[in-house]
Amino acid sequence: MTFNDLGLSPPLLEAIAASGYTTPTPIQEQAIPHALQGRDVLGIAQTGTGKTASFTLPMIEVLSRGRPKARMPRSLILTPTRELAAQIADNFEKYGKNHKLTMALLIGGVSFGDQDRLLMQGVDVLIATPGRLLDHFERGKLLLTGVQVMVVDEADRMLDMGFIPDIERIFKLTPFTRQTLFFSATMPAEIQRLTDQFLSNPVRIEVARRATAAETIDQFIVKTQGSDPKSKRAALRAAIDFADPQTAIVFCNRKRDVDIVARSLTRHGYGAAPIHGDLAQAVRTQTLESFKAGETKLLIASDVAARGLDIPEVSHVFNYDLPSHPEDYVHRIGRTGRAGRSGVAFSIATPADNKARAAIESLIQKQIPEKDFGVAEEADAPAKPAADASDDAPAEAKSSRRGSRRGGRRRGGAKSQEGARENAAPRENKAAREEKPAEKRNNSKRSGGRGKSGNEREHEVVGLGDHTPAFLLRPVPGET
Ligand code: AMP
Repeated sequence: MTFNDLGLSPPLLEAIAASGYTTPTPIQEQAIPHALQGRDVLGIAQTGTGKTASFTLPMIEVLSRGRPKARMPRSLILTPTRELAAQIADNFEKYGKNHKLTMALLIGGVSFGDQDRLLMQGVDVLIATPGRLLDHFERGKLLLTGVQVMVVDEADRMLDMGFIPDIERIFKLTPFTRQTLFFSATMPAEIQRLTDQFLSNPVRIEVARRATAAETIDQFIVKTQGSDPKSKRAALRAAIDFADPQTAIVFCNRKRDVDIVARSLTRHGYGAAPIHGDLAQAVRTQTLESFKAGETKLLIASDVAARGLDIPEVSHVFNYDLPSHPEDYVHRIGRTGRAGRSGVAFSIATPADNKARAAIESLIQKQIPEKDFGVAEEADAPAKPAADASDDAPAEAKSSRRGSRRGGRRRGGAKSQEGARENAAPRENKAAREEKPAEKRNNSKRSGGRGKSGNEREHEVVGLGDHTPAFLLRPVPGET
């Protein structure tokens, strides 16, 4: 089966070919013909399956006929995060290059004024996070009675983030004659209730869960003897040194640890940057861009922040913590080994993690082999050889790293980040409700090599432009 067999028109097929894709993925193959016929679709699929194109492609086709009216978008896509919204917008730009569709994003960080102007001109495609959409609606800037197609993307994630009441309300504001394309990786009872209520005789398409991809990924447990953070960070560094990743995501269960681990790795000379919902949006966007460009090797992330990020080339995943929900483990390691590529995942496990590990092994139905780097003893050792750049650095080296990072700039960077935090949208909650679209930035810093040359790159903080936020420079609690 090729894209030519799905009923798409020549201008769209040309745009798909230009993007380099020749064969539809299973969800695309099954969803697109039904969506083109106007059927409701319930897609049970997760990120990495090609689900985004399975709704953007038919939407471009359907919307190519007709024109928008002021304040009345012709289609609406609800998404849990700003990053995902930006990726969907990228999809429309890529595949819609031969169509003249107008698009607006209602997401945090984009000024209301700019969005109001776009809405007034009339938009074919409106991509929004639920809270921000309702803000605009309540301000009387938006009518949803012209919505012909409505998409709900990553519904189960929106459930986790408490968006279901907002989504119900939005559904009720749209015409019942609309076409609905609804996507969720899982179908908990609340989501099932929502689809029963708002979808009309949908075609149900279920594509293989990521758990099957777990088979293509080489997975290892790195055991630590103690459960203390210092042993875990030492184990993480040992795993990174061993794996020598091109780019990797390091997952932590808590936002606080995302910052601590990013700071610790940075102080040890690794090109690392944190991403989580509490960071100022400008920092998140820039970090993601830098990571996508390969300028930041290690992205330290929480589950929510990483959800939906379209990062095609991750060579490794590291779990600083084992997740408490085994499904999250599968999501996390699914960041590597995508689309048939091979991938490697290392997970730090302390003696306290035995239960979490057993739950994961039961879900993926295999035992994860252990890799022993012998770091536990080293991490607890009172003195380190000064020449060992990959271990805890000597105190004077650390103070010179901190002191030599262009003092004035550093302060400016810290200040601007705090300012950005203060300016965050008031509706914002910890679950990273909304984000502005990715902006291309030129990052002048590049990550260096590893190992012996580590001291040469210790003055670089990768992915944050010329500004090194103060939180990356503060000492890590418990680190000597
Ligand atoms: P998604 O599940 O929509 O997040 O897509 C996951 C990744 O698959 C993205 O990097 C897409 O660009 C890519 N992709 C989407 N459709 C195809 C296709 N037909 N063939 C190959 N890759 C695709």
